[in-house]
Amino acid sequence: MELPVIAAALPALGWALHGSLLTRRLSTARRDPLTGLHNRAGWTTRAECIATRSPRALALLVDLDDFKAINDTHGHLAGDAVITATAARLADWVAGHGIAARLGGDEFAAIITDPANVPGATALHEALHRPVTYRGLVIPVAASVGFCHLTDLPVRTLTDALSAADAAMYAVKGHGRRNNTLRP
Ligand code: GH3
Ligand code: MG
Repeated sequence: MELPVIAAALPALGWALHGSLLTRRLSTARRDPLTGLHNRAGWTTRAECIATRSPRALALLVDLDDFKAINDTHGHLAGDAVITATAARLADWVAGHGIAARLGGDEFAAIITDPANVPGATALHEALHRPVTYRGLVIPVAASVGFCHLTDLPVRTLTDALSAADAAMYAVKGHGRRNNTLRP
């Protein structure tokens, strides 16, 4: 290729590279680095779309039970392994029918377009309660889950759905630790 042609192409190449780096940075800003799930900011925009467009949308919140004890007993890295496993289990359950997020700490959220498309609350409960193996240790895991059908809300907003799911989640957290998933 002629030198002047290369010289003329360089600015375009520079902008293309800049654009692709910017896109990657924006996408990284919307992901939780530990689990690869969307973070709160990345999730909210997409979740609002589902809340608006899917008449049968279901929102849920998950919070691990006694998670601090896992950190205290087995160390922070073991805690990280439990968080990562929980993220993968929630993402598997949601599959392509919605979107899952790690909101922070040991708290996760998901919204699905239609509960008929996912395996059901019992399957989620069982998946979230499978022990996690980390460096030969078998760590018991428990989680509380609260659901909100958006059709049950007087006004269908994501904020109200999360408040209702949060109330449901804390209601079950108060009711014992091992059989604590409200039926959707
Ligand atoms: P509860 O049963 O009431 O939910 O209590 P909990 O012990 O699960 O504790 P809580 O949900 O109140 O707090 C979550 C803890 O998670 C607090 C913090 O020390 C820990 N944590 C937050 N982020 C991380 C992380 O990225 N990795 C690890 N290993 N621990 C984290
Ligand atoms: Mg917790």
